Amino acid sequence: MEREDLLAAARAAAEHAYAPYSRFHVGAAAVMETPEGELVATGANVENASYGLTICAERVALASLFQMLPAGATPRVIQVAIACIDAPEDASDEARVPCGACRQWLAELAPEAIYYVDGVARDLALPDLLPLAFQLKRKPRSQRARARVEPGASRSRHSAASSKSV
Ligand SMILES: [Zn+2]
Repeated sequence: MEREDLLAAARAAAEHAYAPYSRFHVGAAAVMETPEGELVATGANVENASYGLTICAERVALASLFQMLPAGATPRVIQVAIACIDAPEDASDEARVPCGACRQWLAELAPEAIYYVDGVARDLALPDLLPLAFQLKRKPRSQRARARVEPGASRSRHSAASSKSV
């Protein structure tokens, strides 16, 4: 999708933010490539009186996007746009980019994406946002599927993990 179109989708999503405490309405829009074409999901921040439980627009959009992924398909998020429609015009780039928690989500779910941030001139990649990102090696899909169908799955998963690490 074009940069400006995705940023427009993020701005539109921001209108749906629940932000009674910060009054900062943030929206995000993410694009996933699938064999059937591109999927797009949007999200907005949802605040909570217990501030730490607030969830940002980026994470809402990614969670929605992954719910749309066809079962068994390999996720590949290719673009993410982020916009705060209440940001002052002279806000710095640092005030517009995703928070640390979202960066870890982006490292997990959208490591190859191009990032468009409203008000930031240049496009960003994950290493711009989170150098030396914490990541773990993924387990093969077949092993995970087997663990899911076996009764007493948590026990067998433990033994599989320990035997693999030896
Ligand atoms: Zn965040």
